[in-house]
Amino acid sequence: MVLEAQDAFLSLCDQDVAKEAAKIFKKQHLDIRLGARVTGSQINGEEVEVTYLDKEGNEQKQTFDKLIVAVGRKPFTQGCFSEDSGVKLDERGFVFVDEQCRTSVPGVYAIGDIVRGPMLAHKASEEGVMVADIIAGHKAQMNYDCIPSVIYTHPELAWVGKNEQELKAEGVKFKVGKFPFAASGRAMAANDTDGFVKIIACEETDRILGCHIIGGHAADLIAQAVIAMEFGSTAEDIALTVFAHPTVSEAVHEAALAVDNHAIHIANRKKR
Ligand SMILES: Cc1cc2nc3c(=O)[nH]c(=O)nc-3n(C[C@H](O)[C@H](O)[C@H](O)COP(=O)(O)OP(=O)(O)OC[C@H]3O[C@@H](n4cnc5c(N)ncnc54)[C@H](O)[C@@H]3O)c2cc1C
Repeated sequence: MVLEAQDAFLSLCDQDVAKEAAKIFKKQHLDIRLGARVTGSQINGEEVEVTYLDKEGNEQKQTFDKLIVAVGRKPFTQGCFSEDSGVKLDERGFVFVDEQCRTSVPGVYAIGDIVRGPMLAHKASEEGVMVADIIAGHKAQMNYDCIPSVIYTHPELAWVGKNEQELKAEGVKFKVGKFPFAASGRAMAANDTDGFVKIIACEETDRILGCHIIGGHAADLIAQAVIAMEFGSTAEDIALTVFAHPTVSEAVHEAALAVDNHAIHIANRKKR
């Protein structure tokens, strides 16, 4: 059972993907309770009794053999720097740094989970490389708009760039291309047809703004979108690229084609 305090499942994900994930996980017999706020837990021998308020506000108690608490992480910077060091922290305890990880003290850098941005291993290590380059006197910069995120479930969830809810909130006009793995020959052969690839492109320039994948190999497939976005590609650039057949990568190609209603292996939306 998953107890989630928020009303939306996987609120950080594109909600199209989150809804698909909830549907698939339910088929896998995962009991997901939204709006469920855990208020306490009590270990009784080999079991643990969890108390929570359900979405109607009623107190519930349930007994489990294992409890995993996954309510997020915070930077552990307490006592890390002396009062007179000059290194500034923000109100949430993150070390304050600029785009190139310089702290408020010249010559002192901070990277990774204790500075702004996603708390991810690849983000931390790339920041480390950038800072090492800067210290060695080279020019270095990181593109914070192109950091992939992955949820290692089965099927995997992976994304890069903006999702639909973020773009709507920013008032950006966009177009969407989606391709289901159920229409991918390779996914069918592997009997792994859950999920889809979704590409979001700027309505005006066609530049790729985000890619959201749920399905087998999503963690690897997302690298294709990361590279495309890093190079400032349009959806048409991917649509004009040749992909090997049969591969699950063809779903990325088809999603890019679908952005302008040119998908080959699924029916396209009616042209406006
Ligand atoms: C359970 C779990 C699973 C995760 N899975 C993934 C994943 O699948 N993919 C992914 O990208 N990220 C994942 N992460 C996040 C990833 O581990 C972190 O983003 C990454 O390790 C951050 O690197 P870092 O160098 O900033 O910090 P850390 O890796 O935490 O390294 C900081 C080091 O500093 C040391 N330290 C702390 N205080 C002091 C001090 N005062 N003096 C000297 N040393 C000190 C610590 O002991 C530690 O070794 C996961 C995290 C957790 C907790």
